[in-house]
This record gives sequence, structure tokens and C-alpha cells, in this order.
Amino acid sequence: MAPIRTLDFREAAAPSAVTLEAARSLLRRVFGHVDFRGLQAPVIAELLAGRSALAVLPTGGGKSLCYQAPAMLRPGVGVVVSPLIALMADQVAALSQLGVAAGRLDSGLPTDAREETWARLQRGELDLLYVSPEGLMQGWVLERLRRVPLSLIAVDEAHCVSQWGHDFRPEYRALGRLAETFADVPRLALTATADARTREDIRRQLQLGDAAEFVASFSRPELALFAERKSGRGRDRVLSMVKARKGRSGIVYAGSRSGVEELAERLGAEGLAAKAYHAGLDRDTRRDRLAWFLDTDDSVMVATIAFGMGIDKPDVRFVIHADPPSSIEAYWQEVGRAGRDGQAAEGVTLYGSSDFAWAAERIRRADLPEDQALLQVRKLRQLYALLEGAGCRPAAVRRYFGETEVSPCGRCDRCLAPPVGTDVTKAAQKALSAIHRLGGRYGRGRIIDHLLGRGDPGREQALSTFGIGSEVSAGAWRALLDQLLFEGLIAETPNDGRPTLDLADAEAVLAVYRGERRLTALSAPGRDKPAMGRRRRTAVEAPEGPDLALYEVLRDWRRDEAHRLGLPPFFVLGNAALAAIARDRPRNRSDLASVDGVGQTKLDRYGDALLALVRGYD
Ligand code: ADP
Ligand code: ZN
Repeated sequence: MAPIRTLDFREAAAPSAVTLEAARSLLRRVFGHVDFRGLQAPVIAELLAGRSALAVLPTGGGKSLCYQAPAMLRPGVGVVVSPLIALMADQVAALSQLGVAAGRLDSGLPTDAREETWARLQRGELDLLYVSPEGLMQGWVLERLRRVPLSLIAVDEAHCVSQWGHDFRPEYRALGRLAETFADVPRLALTATADARTREDIRRQLQLGDAAEFVASFSRPELALFAERKSGRGRDRVLSMVKARKGRSGIVYAGSRSGVEELAERLGAEGLAAKAYHAGLDRDTRRDRLAWFLDTDDSVMVATIAFGMGIDKPDVRFVIHADPPSSIEAYWQEVGRAGRDGQAAEGVTLYGSSDFAWAAERIRRADLPEDQALLQVRKLRQLYALLEGAGCRPAAVRRYFGETEVSPCGRCDRCLAPPVGTDVTKAAQKALSAIHRLGGRYGRGRIIDHLLGRGDPGREQALSTFGIGSEVSAGAWRALLDQLLFEGLIAETPNDGRPTLDLADAEAVLAVYRGERRLTALSAPGRDKPAMGRRRRTAVEAPEGPDLALYEVLRDWRRDEAHRLGLPPFFVLGNAALAAIARDRPRNRSDLASVDGVGQTKLDRYGDALLALVRGYD
């Protein structure tokens, strides 16, 4: 692997000082910026010298300039491969505003607009041409491009080419052929997040040979990061956090469409400027809401991860994860959307053990090749290790991305209030023994009752573990069970919506029994606790845990169905019926018919679809 260069431009400038000077004056004249930032200068110098490069710059690090400037200075047109049409349109519009000749070719454009772009290209009028990967790799497009001089080819979001990345897109694979088709054209692979393995893969897939690699520091000193375990679904907590930030613009990420809709609605009811955004909304609505978000000072977007790449709003003051992301890459990219103007901003992540169990379950169900599934579960574990960890959060992220000699940030929750560690090894031993004695058949509630010596003892009373934990509160046991799950000592089986807990890694459990492995519970002082016991009860009690996930799937289905029929969702089925289906998991039509709210008509109309959805959750 080529050496990683993290030098700044003064060192790198020497070989091509003249042209870099030209780039700097272009930067001032066209873009109005005083000087290059971070690694922009060395990356640009590399391209100006006609060499390919791989650059990893954090979100907001100014990746676009790395190819825009050399494309304008070198003869020929710079081809930019980008995965999102909306993003291309924005960039082309922004460049046109600056008087830069840029065009795009994408399937969203009318034919005559595309023809116009081709004509400008052939007349040598364009500096930049934006295309999607699948658009570019069509034979006739490549053929036409071969007949015009190219200044460079930039591959944006290059991590999409790698299975080891967090957003693999098969259509990126074909881009490897560019190396042969345009052997003399320097290529630039760009991404905001790629660990060492992903970088290696990008290099191989895109045939970058020994191209120089530029990896910027992932330091984001303006970001203050916080994370806390949820109590319940954590929705009230999100509400109060957003209310406390009233007047500021932010993004709230939730894991499902229905979660997004619900939160947006509740925030709206509190008088906050909040809108929902997810892939289930039609294109126009999404476009309008994005425009609203960008143009409004105090706009709060509640979104699924569909609201992602290309959100270039400089003054986003907070990103709140109502549900946790799926990897450290995704986490960093998402919280990274706050504070792009360099002013103080916050990233707050709420997470719970059922989120973890569900994410793992989703991976299992996705039917991926085994190594892929294992990798994704590992990424998930690494994220939870970071969320649960005692150390500085940005420092952990930076180490994850391969930075060394990282110092604590001084502004995350862990730095501000170093958690107090309590040795809970003894309690963990009790919990593990109880789970072992109960034979892995029971869920949390029953295990906690057993430890406390509550409930209907029956045969359990005879077990030596009955009531051995009565000195600890039920809440503390719950937290400890979560910790055991996070640490991989116990595992949760969905079991038809009634999750059971069992011992997981036998070696590790043994080490805890023997006291060789100590467990420390962290409690961070000074954080306000989520409001307990004040939970507003809605008419329908939303299910919890795995039931909740199915419930939300059912609600998404209902929304689509309602949309298709042009009816309000509750005409299809009520919340109570959906909750009952999520809880009872009917296996056949007669089971389904016994659910309150499912009559013969609904059974005929929706029976098969509902049973299929439920079966998908086995
Ligand atoms: P990325 O794609 O890496 O997330 P962008 O290329 O969209 O970042 O740039 C992020 C923001 O930083 C933009 O608003 C851009 O105008 C600004 N920017 C880029 N380079 C510079 C620079 N050298 N000086 C000042 N601002 C810059
Ligand atoms: Zn810190």
C-alpha cells in the first residue's frame, strides 16, 4: 500500500508551486475563499501534476473543490461521478451561479437538455460534467467521451465501491474499467468515511495502483457529542431535547418511516418547525421539504437515513439520533451534518439494547452472504462499544478511522463528566447464574422477577438463584442485562415477539464467573435523567422491542396501501389492530380473523399481505 500522506500544503506545494498558485487565485476569484483548507491543496497539486489520488476528507471538509479547481485549470472537461441526481443538480446549479460551465447527464433530464449538454461538451465549453455511475458506464457514453479531452475523473462517495464500506452500491463496481478506458486521465476517488480496509478495497476496485492517499484528520472540534441509553422508546426524551433547542436548526434521525411521521407530528404539535422526510414520500414533497429545510433558520427535519448525502446546510446546530445508526461510519457521517459552518454544534445519540437486537435481526434477515452479514454485525458491535464506552467519543471515532495519537476532545459527555465506574461483577455473576438456571427460556421481566424473588415462584423457588438479587432495583437489573447484551455475554432470541435471554459466549461467561473478567457499570453524573413516570399514554399502547419493529413495518405497509387507495390510513386498519397483530403474530387466516378490527372484508382484502409481513418476522 502506498504511504499515507497527511502533510499540509506547504510541504506538498513545492513540486507544482506555480500551478497551485494558479489554483489559489482561482479559489479567490471564482469561489471567494481566502485559502485552501486542510488537504485540499496537496490533493489539487497531485491532480494538477496529472496523477491519480485517493482522498478521505470529513464531511464539510470541502471535497468538491479538490476536483473542481483542477478540472477548471487543466485542459478538457472534468467528469464527476456521483450517486445522487439531486446532488448533481445542486452542484451544477451552484457552479453556474459562480459562472463555471458545468452540466449534467442524468435520466431525470429531458432529452433536449441532455443533447444540449452533449453539444456544449463537444464544443469544448464545459469544465465539469456530472454523471451517475450507471449513466457513465454505458458503452455509447464512454465512446463519445473518448473523443473529447478529459481533465480528470472524480469518483465521489467512493466508499460505495467497497463491500467493506457501509453503503455498497453494485453499480460502482463497473467504474474499475475507467482505468483502462481512460488510462491517461488522472482519477480522484473521494469519500468522507473509509477505514483502512475500505481504502484498500477502493484502491483495488478502482485500479488506483500506487496513487497517493490523503487522509484528513477526522477532528471536528466544533462538535460536542453525547450519547445515552433510552428509557423505553425514548420518544419523550427526543421531544424535550428538541424543545430545549427551539429556534435552532437540526436533524432528528429515526429508524422507521412511521417513527419519523410520529415524531414530526408530535414536534409540530409542540409548535416547533418540524417536517418529516423519508423515502415513502413522493419526489415533489421531498424536494419541497428539502428546500424548506435549507431556507429556514429554525427548521427541524425528522428523517430516516434517506435524508443523507448532499445535505449542505451550514448552520445545522444539532443532530439527534432518536434511534441509533448502524455503524461508526454512518454515525460520523450523520452527526457530521451538524456544525459545517465551524460553529458549535451537537450530536446526541439515543440507543437501547432492543435497537441493537433489532439491527442484528435485520441483518440476519437480509439474506446476505455470510461474510457480509458477519461484517455488518461487527460494525454494529463496534458502534455500540463506542456508545457504551467510557472514553472520549470523537477520540474513539478517530482511532477507528486509523488516526493515532488522538487526544480527548474536552467537550463530549465523557470528557465533561467522566463516568463513575462501579464494579458490578458480582451482580453480573448473579444475573448470569439466574439466566443459566432458568435455561434460557425467559425474557427480561421474568428474569428480573426471579432475581428479586417476586412474582409467582412455583418451581423457581427451588432454584438457588431465586431472590438472590433483592438488594438491587428492577431498573438497575434492567440496565445490567442491557450491558451484558452489549458486551456479548448474553444473547437475545426474538422468539415470536417474546424475546428470551440466554448465555452467549461460554468462555466469556466463565471468565466472569471466575472473576477473571471484571464488569464495570458506568453512570455519568450531571446528565439530566429522562423524565420517568410522566409518559403520556396514547390511546393505543405502542408495542415494545421486536413487536415495535413489526408494528412499524405494518404501519409503513398501511401507509403505502392507504396511499394507493387514496384513503386515510385508519380506513385500512386501526393502530390497535396493527398493535395486536404485531403482538400476537397470527400464523393463518383464522388467527388473523380473531384480531379485533379485522372483519371478513379486511381479511379478504389484506389477509395475505398481513400474513406475509408477519411471516417475514419469524
Ligand atoms: P464536502 O463535500 O467535503 O462535505 P463541500 O465540498 O460541500 O464539502 O464543502 C463544504 C463547504 O465548505 C462548502 O460550503 C464550501 O463552500 C466550503 N469550502 C470548501 N472549501 C473551502 C475553503 N478553502 N475555504 C472556505 N470554505 C470552503
Ligand atoms: Zn471527548
